[in-house]
Amino acid sequence: MTFLKPGQTIYYRACKSCNKKVTGDEGTGYSCQSCKKTPAECNLRYILSAKFTSATGGAWITAFGDDAEKIIGCSADELDHTRAHGDGSSYQTQLNKATWAPHLLRLMVATQQYKNEKKQKITAKAVTPVDYAGESKFLLDKISTMTS
Ligand SMILES: [Zn+2]
Repeated sequence: MTFLKPGQTIYYRACKSCNKKVTGDEGTGYSCQSCKKTPAECNLRYILSAKFTSATGGAWITAFGDDAEKIIGCSADELDHTRAHGDGSSYQTQLNKATWAPHLLRLMVATQQYKNEKKQKITAKAVTPVDYAGESKFLLDKISTMTS
């Protein structure tokens, strides 16, 4: 991840059964339109849309839930707690720490039609730390097949 728009919301209150966004708040109670239920509790779930850059280029990629958690480095609940109780800088520090941290992403690319315009939607499906030893071996194996 190389760029995260400052001040953007990167998580939402999600229904524990279906992960859809719930309406309402702690005071009035939550309500899930999809399940037609009013759950007593809900989860904070990441919806992270940020710019990611590789050696060959960059793209805007969206990551959800656990995958986004691996990129940010803490759960959405923890991040929300930091934002609510921290001095403001600790929240930003967490996001800054996550920026430029290398990850290996498996991506799903879907093309969507939007107002006669084709748009590419890229979603991160698996996020893992970069395995430098494994990646180097992969490259060395590739190089050895080129020379032989
Ligand atoms: Zn639901």
